Amino acid sequence: RMVKRYMACRNDIHRHDAPFIAVFKSLIPAEEELEKQKQLMAKLDNLVAKEWPNAKLYLYGSCANSFGFPKSDIDVCLAIDDDDVNKSEILLKLADSLESDNFQNVQALTRARVPIVKLMDPVTGISCDICINNVLAVVNTKLLRDYSMIDGRLRQLAFIVKHWAKSRKVNETYQGTLSSYAYVLMCIHYLQQRSPPILPCLQEMEPTYSVGVDNIQCAYFDNVGRLSTFGSGNRETIAELVWGFFNYWAYGHDYANTVVSVRTGSILGKREKDWTRRVGNDRHLICIEDPFETSHDLGRVVDKFSIRVLREEFERAAKIMHQDPNPCAKLFEPY
Ligand code: ATP
Ligand code: MG
Repeated sequence: RMVKRYMACRNDIHRHDAPFIAVFKSLIPAEEELEKQKQLMAKLDNLVAKEWPNAKLYLYGSCANSFGFPKSDIDVCLAIDDDDVNKSEILLKLADSLESDNFQNVQALTRARVPIVKLMDPVTGISCDICINNVLAVVNTKLLRDYSMIDGRLRQLAFIVKHWAKSRKVNETYQGTLSSYAYVLMCIHYLQQRSPPILPCLQEMEPTYSVGVDNIQCAYFDNVGRLSTFGSGNRETIAELVWGFFNYWAYGHDYANTVVSVRTGSILGKREKDWTRRVGNDRHLICIEDPFETSHDLGRVVDKFSIRVLREEFERAAKIMHQDPNPCAKLFEPY
């Protein structure tokens, strides 16, 4: 009888597909917003080309990884191939040129953990942060975007999870909860683990793209046009995946012993990563391996208080998906 009830519940879940798709559609930025971003990038490209002819600007983060919400600020990286770059000097010079070019609210934050210049473009109304030589972020942005092109269900799931995390205030790294980047990796990992899988593990395939960044070789199969039918053997729908995702993080994940890894498309042991004890501020209470900086745990911001908050929110979401007649409304209720 239990199995029957479970199956009934799983089958019934499909009636929530339409509302979830509607939420997803309401979160996608409009085409004209992307046009404005391009317009701003072209202007910045021009300015940079005058000062540093050999430098190049890259978009990274949610404005370029296909998981961006409307009205987000854009993140830009200035890549300068120079042996002795003085970041502060460059940022100050950049701030100067931006001001003379009539950009507004220009501010060089040279002492920040990640030094940046902030600016607002009065023409498009877009705010922007420019950092220097943060090439790994550009590469991991491309990895996320490449995954999103394989199966449309990733974008649906990730938008819904991000929307949930923002509504429930568990997308605040300075308060010990997870970054959007971490949530998208959790979604990719979840879809890699489905059976049959919805996403492949691009880093385990024959590389078609490879760049060295600092001391890290970033290589993976990026010819994703070839993989557009990869997930078609799996017929799970968005409501089912949202249900399964929260169920996994509420009741299925072994927080004490395991690490989720998009790089290997599998679950690793904390032991093999030597993430079993606290080192400095890294407590490893929820472990999400960065796909390229493999010593980097994206869960390292989580502390003994915020882990409880997170797990309670996962459980709340799972319960809503199990029981609530209208999960779509309840899930995103503001905290
Ligand atoms: P949001 O819509 O919330 O602004 P976002 O995609 O911009 O989402 P962030 O978490 O702000 O996500 O991260 C921006 C980018 O910075 C990511 O896409 C990623 O490339 C990089 N990044 C963020 N956090 C890390 C991290 N801990 N380690 C490595 N790269 C990171
Ligand atoms: Mg961002």
